[in-house]
Amino acid sequence: MDFILATNNMKKLAEMQRILSPLGINVVTAKMLGKEIPDVEENGTTFEENARIKAVSACEVMNMPAIADDSGLCVDYLDGAPGIYSARFSGGHGNDEQNNDLLLEKLSGVPMEERTAYYVCAICCVFPDGREITVRGECHGNIGFERDGNEGFGYDPLFIINGKAFGRYSAEEKDKISHRGNALRLLTKELEKTI
Ligand code: IMP
Repeated sequence: MDFILATNNMKKLAEMQRILSPLGINVVTAKMLGKEIPDVEENGTTFEENARIKAVSACEVMNMPAIADDSGLCVDYLDGAPGIYSARFSGGHGNDEQNNDLLLEKLSGVPMEERTAYYVCAICCVFPDGREITVRGECHGNIGFERDGNEGFGYDPLFIINGKAFGRYSAEEKDKISHRGNALRLLTKELEKTI
């Protein structure tokens, strides 16, 4: 069965393909089918709502099962910020360096025990017949005092878990405990029951 993935992020596509192909699911992007899904406004107030907005739109446009995700970092000292605004924390879309600088600035002088944070990944799957599955994975750690490592992306050089930053985890190591890995494992279980 073919599923459309509402992203043009090739890393996400590869990750989904790797995890879902054993279920007989082939994940493709609209681009791979020579089509385009118009951008939708992600105006939800939760990760789950934003994932659903993207999945519903992709399912409608393509008339095939669609999967979308939404993820971000929630910092307890900042009352859950940047949360759903993680990509544009410092303004423009997706400037990891500036986002990390701003996070360090906002946590300046805050001791390690108050620097707790967690990543969230919500994944929504919508079928043309109206069935829907939504899952949420989390990954809890701390925000370090300085960047560490060059692996991963986004806030990974600052996110410490089990004594080292995600910036120093290999992709395989990160998958085993990450919010996205956890959400995908939950999705797999739910899909096994549904398809
Ligand atoms: P999106 O769900 O791909 O739009 O990701 C939102 C933003 O959350 C990214 O731009 C990153 O800033 C942050 N983020 C989500 N997942 C991760 C991760 O695994 N590592 C680091 N940053 C992440």
